[in-house]
Amino acid sequence: METFTGSFTQQEPIPEASVEAALRILRHGRLHRYNTVPGEIAETALLEEEFAAFTGAKYCLAVASGGYALGCALRALGIEPGDRVLTNAFTLAPVPGAIAALGGVPVFVETTEALTIDFDDLVRKAPDAKALLLSHMRGHICDMDRLMQVCAAAGLPVIEDCAHTMGAAWRGTPSGRHGVIGCYSTQTYKHMNSGEGGLLVSDDEGLMARAIVLSGSYMLYDRHRAAPPPEAFEDVKYATPNVSGRMDNLRAAILRPQLADLPRQCARWNELYRVVETGLDGTPGLNLIPRPKAESYVASSFQFLLPDWPEAKIRALLTRAARRGVELKWFGAPEPRGFTSRHDSWRYAPRQDLPETDRILTGLIDMRLPLTFTPDDAALIARIIRAEVSAVFQGEGKGTEALPAAD
Ligand SMILES: *Cc1c(COP(=O)(O)O)cnc(C)c1O
Repeated sequence: METFTGSFTQQEPIPEASVEAALRILRHGRLHRYNTVPGEIAETALLEEEFAAFTGAKYCLAVASGGYALGCALRALGIEPGDRVLTNAFTLAPVPGAIAALGGVPVFVETTEALTIDFDDLVRKAPDAKALLLSHMRGHICDMDRLMQVCAAAGLPVIEDCAHTMGAAWRGTPSGRHGVIGCYSTQTYKHMNSGEGGLLVSDDEGLMARAIVLSGSYMLYDRHRAAPPPEAFEDVKYATPNVSGRMDNLRAAILRPQLADLPRQCARWNELYRVVETGLDGTPGLNLIPRPKAESYVASSFQFLLPDWPEAKIRALLTRAARRGVELKWFGAPEPRGFTSRHDSWRYAPRQDLPETDRILTGLIDMRLPLTFTPDDAALIARIIRAEVSAVFQGEGKGTEALPAAD
């Protein structure tokens, strides 16, 4: 019986060019983004210029984390305590967390079988809301043409959470460029790794001026390069609170070589994804997530559905796969574990009735695909999952229920 011995949480080492850049910063000691010598351009400002160019945005701001980017975007948009902000019911905790941190009320929108936002529920909930914080959760992108039409008709500004779609696109437009602001994360488990870090992009002068002052620019905003002209800050600089959350030059230096290499990395993720997808195709009892033609995804993780499986069988599958070294995560688990939690465990948000999302999450299995895996690893993982899903699925009435529950 084959087993897998790799680690689902081990990312690649930081590239040598990043290590060298980091050492240069450490040796001169000017880590703060506004600490420069005459003629020097801060690494942070250069990263912002390069990321703006990468996404085709006019403006970019580098910040301390992806979660900070979301909060900063909502504040820049003028979200105030008591405002209702729509977001995906299927997302990660920092998304409703960013809304709640501002005193806003997270209102969850139902999920489709494609793991994207449900347009009918969005239309129903739009009238009372101030904004949509759209989460491209696990890299699945909804029909962005239709989404922007629906939100324009409802007068709803869109902020995009692109923590899982850095480098992805919808019909050729980079993810994060449909809404008024796009937010990205450079935390270790995302598409670039600076430990912690975040980026915001926008074409809106007023929004970006506010975001820059919010991030803690003091009166040094003219040191930013991918930024609106100084006139845009005239009123903003007095009225906008400083909520310090800047990125530093060390992290920016680590990220710049990674950004240059990002298209190659994205292609490597997608190769692993396609190997797993091919390996699981046609497995009885298992549904793959269809990927629309217009979507250029960056699949740094893999999801599949076990529709209508009883909980005992899902737990049996998780246990059996784990014994063979395959670490599967289950969004249907009643108790939150590790990074995985569900809308009903975010008790800072009012409790909401989301029967479709609950039904889908009950059968949703999730797995990371770090770039330390080879295509052969991906093929082995798919063989193990296929064998175990088949065994448990067909094991009805053959004592499957007696298998130990996952811890
Ligand atoms: C990681 C993540 C974030 C926040 O990023 P951090 O940099 O960890 O704060 C936001 N949304 C989603 C979907 C994420 O996975």
